[in-house]
Amino acid sequence: MSRYKILGFIGDGIGAEIVPEAVKVLDAAADAYGFDVEHLGPYECGAHYWVSHQMKRGWPEEVTKDIFYEADAIYKGPTGLPDLVGKLPGPYLPLNMRLDLDLYANVRPCRLRPGVQSVLRGREPGGIDFIVLRENTEHMYAAIGGIMRRGGVSELAIDDYVQTRKGCERIIRLGFEMARSGAYKGRPGAPRDGKRRLTCSCKWGLCKGDDLFKEIYDGMVAEYPDVEKDSTWIDSWSYYALIKPDFYDVVVMPNQYGDIMSDMSGAIQGSLGLAGSINAGDNYCFAEATHGSAPDIAGKGVSNPTSMILSVGMMLNWLGEKKGDQRLRDAWRGIDKAVDSVLAAGKVRTPDLGGSSSTKQFGSAVAKAVKAA
Ligand code: NAD
Repeated sequence: MSRYKILGFIGDGIGAEIVPEAVKVLDAAADAYGFDVEHLGPYECGAHYWVSHQMKRGWPEEVTKDIFYEADAIYKGPTGLPDLVGKLPGPYLPLNMRLDLDLYANVRPCRLRPGVQSVLRGREPGGIDFIVLRENTEHMYAAIGGIMRRGGVSELAIDDYVQTRKGCERIIRLGFEMARSGAYKGRPGAPRDGKRRLTCSCKWGLCKGDDLFKEIYDGMVAEYPDVEKDSTWIDSWSYYALIKPDFYDVVVMPNQYGDIMSDMSGAIQGSLGLAGSINAGDNYCFAEATHGSAPDIAGKGVSNPTSMILSVGMMLNWLGEKKGDQRLRDAWRGIDKAVDSVLAAGKVRTPDLGGSSSTKQFGSAVAKAVKAA
């Protein structure tokens, strides 16, 4: 039996509620699909841990830099708390993993699942099924910039917006490949017409970096005759995504746009608590829900763990592709279907979806459905 080292972090706020449920489902999938997991953690980390350890320790001692490179895959609960803004530890741990591990693709599916209502009127399950594919290492979050302080006062702040040919090429190529294969979707193509389509969305004509992004997209179109070309300015896309979400298949966009639009996609699919995601590169992957630490509901045991469960499922699929292990790919499909079956049955439902079940009850129901399948 193959044994995979999976490194985990709990994070802040609802991380302590949703991460154990994702682990429960991961273990159920390992049993059901016949692979073995060696758990490294899940370890505490995040703003709360950092501050409560006098800003000297961001995570337990056994979390060394090497552990990241030894793990087959990683998952992390949300990190950050509004009262502790700017209080997250560096230099190499969770916050910076996207850059350090070169996780250039943030894959954020938006699918309307059975038994769930979108905030958009008249949409049926399966009628929305697109992926926001966010470049994850450049743009406004390239972490280049600084603050000038004069007389103890913050006077001037600069963030450099960076796009490189390499950064644009690899994410756009991945977008074409994902549209072609239907990866991480219910079925390939857009729900409206079944067409495989890669939409490029950014602010070309105004930002030089986005001119480069669009130019590289246009230059690659001819290599993918089976994928329909489509481009929309990012401000227009925030409108079109609401009035014709069924038109979209895979939508590729620079970092900050993708960050914002994927939260909107959370509402489109019925709740941010359903929004799973992975940060993936060629060699490493870490799973992380689209949302934050949800301090408004943390500690009540009512958060929706689906986001974290689906993220861990996607992580298994990524690992299955990397290792050529079909059991891991099947495990992802199994987890995805188990989530659908629990949502469709409607008996166990967290408050964000109009129910009164707890985080634990939902996680247990999904784990049971994974085993039953
Ligand atoms: P948030 O995403 O935490 O919450 C927004 C809304 O969505 C809240 O009403 C919350 O209750 C709801 N929500 C989120 N996840 C849910 C779930 N699983 N089930 C049910 N409802 C859910 O956004 P915020 O409040 O702006 O941010 C809180 C903190 O999280 C901030 O410090 C922010 O920096 C941090 N953050 C971290 C990440 C990350 O670690 N990847 C991402 C975004 C925000």
